[in-house]
Amino acid sequence: MAVSMEIPWSVNQRLTPWTPDHIHMVTNMDIETVEEAEETLPPCDVVVGLGGGSCVDTAKFIAWKRGCRMVLVPSIISVDAPLTNTVAVRVDKKVQYIGDIYPEELIVDYDLIQQAPKELNRAGACDIASIHTGLFDWKLAHDRTGERYDEGIAREARECLVELDRNASEVYDVTPKGIDTVVDLFRREVEFCARFGNSRPEEGSEHIVAYAIEHLTRRHFIHGDLVGLGIFLMTRLQNNDHNWAVDMMTRIGLRYTCPDASRDEIHAALTSLKRFKDDANLFFSIVDTVSITEAFIKDALRSLLELE
Ligand SMILES: [Zn+2]
Repeated sequence: MAVSMEIPWSVNQRLTPWTPDHIHMVTNMDIETVEEAEETLPPCDVVVGLGGGSCVDTAKFIAWKRGCRMVLVPSIISVDAPLTNTVAVRVDKKVQYIGDIYPEELIVDYDLIQQAPKELNRAGACDIASIHTGLFDWKLAHDRTGERYDEGIAREARECLVELDRNASEVYDVTPKGIDTVVDLFRREVEFCARFGNSRPEEGSEHIVAYAIEHLTRRHFIHGDLVGLGIFLMTRLQNNDHNWAVDMMTRIGLRYTCPDASRDEIHAALTSLKRFKDDANLFFSIVDTVSITEAFIKDALRSLLELE
């Protein structure tokens, strides 16, 4: 049985025609939707998840519930879902992680992945690039609050960042080497985050910016655009190799100017960032130790404008 969506399925049919016993088209990741799919779809030996994050997660849910075999064929490298053991579902519009399953095989088909828009494939690298700001906040939290810190894992994370930097042009061009780089870095990151127990090594204040803008606008964005913007802004607040980070994001093709958010929305999100973070009870970061002033925001927005 195949689990897919219209676009990846038709692209794959053009490249590698295939007739499964049954094909299920994914609509959304609400828990009610995936539970109904699992209960009503016909029995099968193997579930093949072919597509982006939702297709992969739906396939994982069905195979996990049924205890059957699963093969994943990502059509885009925008998320780490094919490499993780958990399933991201939406419960009351909030993401929750359930289940525990790895694919029997993960097929990385360069031809298929290269059919997806380049900017969506490049955007996947944001969760590797975020190690730069994430590590800063993690160390800061350790120094100021005594939060658990692991020097060895921090070193492994930093090596991933170096690897991304070294292969930036391949990632930008979505070459086989670029695709392999991102998939392999996802694999390493997922592994050391699981060993540590959470995503502290790669998730810092740049993700707080991303969540704040989503919360404020109630719109859906490309994750890489928001995280890229978050890295742009928080490296300034952290005084943490801002120019290097911007240069790297440019070479990867992360759209850190976040074209789908207005400058007023970014302004509003920054003004209320600390309050948002406190209300949402998010982790300790630079947002707790340096206040975001009007002058900081004006300066950052002016510099962002120059780079557009
Ligand atoms: Zn992320």
